[in-house]
Amino acid sequence: AYRSEDDYDYLFKLVLIGDSGVGKSNILSRFTRNEFSLESKSTIGVEFATRSLNVDSKVIKAQIWDTAGQERFVASLNRNPPVGICGQSTTSYNFTQGFEEISNGKPRRYRAITSAYYRGAVGALLVYDVTRHTTFENAERWLRELRDHTDPNIVVMLVGNKSDLRHLVAVSTEDGKAFAEKESLCFMETSALEATNVENAFAEVLTQIYRIVS
Ligand code: GDP
Ligand code: MG
Repeated sequence: AYRSEDDYDYLFKLVLIGDSGVGKSNILSRFTRNEFSLESKSTIGVEFATRSLNVDSKVIKAQIWDTAGQERFVASLNRNPPVGICGQSTTSYNFTQGFEEISNGKPRRYRAITSAYYRGAVGALLVYDVTRHTTFENAERWLRELRDHTDPNIVVMLVGNKSDLRHLVAVSTEDGKAFAEKESLCFMETSALEATNVENAFAEVLTQIYRIVS
């Protein structure tokens, strides 16, 4: 039978988190539009995209949130403010505006963005770049922030992206797996460029959420 675009059985909100430049926006565009871009366009504020998948003959609509907003703040906070430039991203950012209103060690603006971003999320892809070890080390911080803002039942997939850059790998599959096991996360290595495992990563997260709620 014909089902329209807006006819779905479940709507699940997922969030993409991880350091700047790890490939979050490309993972999203690969999954939702089958597109990849070599240039790093910085996400302005918060964006989301949707795609529906079938699980057990149910239509699951995933609403996936992507941001560049908070990662800039987190990156800068991690490095002791004030910091002007974030990572190897093509854009440089001015952080100073967010830092006047400090409470609980974090700017109010930052906290407002984060809580809106995480609100209602039932799944997350925590992405690092297999060629940059610091992005893997920072996964712990991202996980802590995620846990602080979401339901304990949230399904989290640790994603080691850029698996196509085999000669540059700085984080072994074993290390990724070990961290995931320690923190009870799912784990997958992906390449948004080669479209490897991107679909599988989302499908696995959505299926697990579905099993929890159904
Ligand atoms: P974000 O800041 O986490 O959203 O990262 P982007 O999606 O903007 O990607 C940052 C850079 O990494 C861009 O230049 C992308 O083309 C590149 N990139 C993203 N995913 C992959 C991948 O799977 N393989 C390779 N080789 N490059 C990637
Ligand atoms: Mg982005």
